[in-house]
Amino acid sequence: MTLHTKISGFADPSLHAHGLYIGGRWEKGSGIPVFDPSTGNVLAEVPDATVDDAMRAVDAAEAAAQTWRATPARQRSEVLRNWFALMSDHAEELAVLIALENGKALPDARGEVAYAAEFFRWYAEEATRIPGEFRHTPSGSHNILVDHEPIGISVLITPWNFPAAMATRKIGPALAAGCTVILKPASETPLTAYAMARLGEQAGVPAGVVNVLTTKDPGAVTNAMLADPRIRKLSFTGSTGVGRLLLAEAAKSVVSCSMELGGNAPFVVFDDADLDAALDGAMIAKMRNAGEACTAANRFYVQSGIHDAFVEGLTKRMAALTIGAGYDPATQCGPMITKKAVQKIDHLVSEAIKHGARATTGGTPLPGNGYFYPPTVLENAPVDAAIAHEEIFGPVAPVYRFETEEQAIELANNTEYGLAAYVYTRDLKRAMRVGKGIETGMLGINRGLMSDPAAPFGGVKQSGLGREGGVTGILEFMEAKYYAVEF
Ligand code: NAP
Repeated sequence: MTLHTKISGFADPSLHAHGLYIGGRWEKGSGIPVFDPSTGNVLAEVPDATVDDAMRAVDAAEAAAQTWRATPARQRSEVLRNWFALMSDHAEELAVLIALENGKALPDARGEVAYAAEFFRWYAEEATRIPGEFRHTPSGSHNILVDHEPIGISVLITPWNFPAAMATRKIGPALAAGCTVILKPASETPLTAYAMARLGEQAGVPAGVVNVLTTKDPGAVTNAMLADPRIRKLSFTGSTGVGRLLLAEAAKSVVSCSMELGGNAPFVVFDDADLDAALDGAMIAKMRNAGEACTAANRFYVQSGIHDAFVEGLTKRMAALTIGAGYDPATQCGPMITKKAVQKIDHLVSEAIKHGARATTGGTPLPGNGYFYPPTVLENAPVDAAIAHEEIFGPVAPVYRFETEEQAIELANNTEYGLAAYVYTRDLKRAMRVGKGIETGMLGINRGLMSDPAAPFGGVKQSGLGREGGVTGILEFMEAKYYAVEF
């Protein structure tokens, strides 16, 4: 297979020399083709790990576990800091890999690399600040000492929509806490994960502390690892459907789970909002990664007085975007990840149109071999259409009209999800009141972007369990141990 010209130009060729990464060794293999979603061409083939390979990865993680947890926090921190620096040095190559295998536009890919690297810097800092606790019992009978210990070997499973950041958001806190890990990236976007593992090796991550494998049979491979008593943690980011399956599987061995699952974010705009700011925020909340984000605004609820101006402004901005391959510097909206993703979007839009919605721009898939769907705005979609309840995961913005604050809250909560929400108003009291009313893990107030390594990321309801990032993210990879002390 000839290397894509964008890859053959890399200054460090090891960044595209992938293979299973187990116990510090690279094992060549094939079986999983990786596609360029802008052409449908195969970019590379990565190994298809078996259950036996996964068990070897668990052995390697176990062999490294005692030494890594006993490594002083300062040293663990420095390894993460080196990894941050190397990711920053190789930011452009990583961004190109992301744009190639995921399809997102280069500015989004560059943004992702910076965001991803920041998790290593943040957790390099947090590694040296692991909290403990000392208290006197109310009865005076003894003292309470609480220590936090690394939870143990952790299985990390990540989706294709943020191939770098979803991995570092887990590896960073796990390594900072003193855990060894097995990372299973999504089959669509493994090249970035393997490239980052190469950089981890250069950063001084000891053999076996981070293992990476790709497989065509994630169910069998993951279930086998979860059944092994040495695995104490599953950290999963992906769809709610797969999350439910994994929770049931983890229950059999009572494995601790962190779950970052799907979203259906409402974007609420009140009459008093700054229209231009709301439109700017809407474009970020909707179009980052061409809509393929768990935090993507999925439903725009706009108050009657500003509704028509908002639809007009959004239509103009969406229609003006340049569509193309993610790695083409002119591109603002790249392809979807697969043909199946385009078909799902097409189905949701067609169904909404059949029930009365009108596309003010876009509305049908683009022809050609790539998996392109154009930026689309829908007005007058019925609030009970499937598009209001399912993750669109594409560049489609359905706009619904509302009249009162109570109605906006009710509409926003009319979903099984509760990951992210956005509110635009000049009245801060109203923003906070509405924020309290909306069932969500995260709320953007007059802001279309909320992701930040220093903030707790996660959802309520069927959007997940636990939080990643922030000061508490490290505790997802630790167990509290209580010592009752008499002295
Ligand atoms: P997905 O289909 O659930 O896949 C996610 C990961 O799980 C992939 O690595 C996949 O492997 C693996 N997987 C699939 N079936 C499995 C099984 N039975 N056992 C173990 N692993 C299994 O999700 P996706 O389509 O990649 O990602 C999109 C979803 O992720 C959306 O719902 C989005 O909202 C959500 N997401 C959530 C967050 C958050 O922080 N809350 C962030 C990003 C994305 P293969 O690729 O090999 O199938």
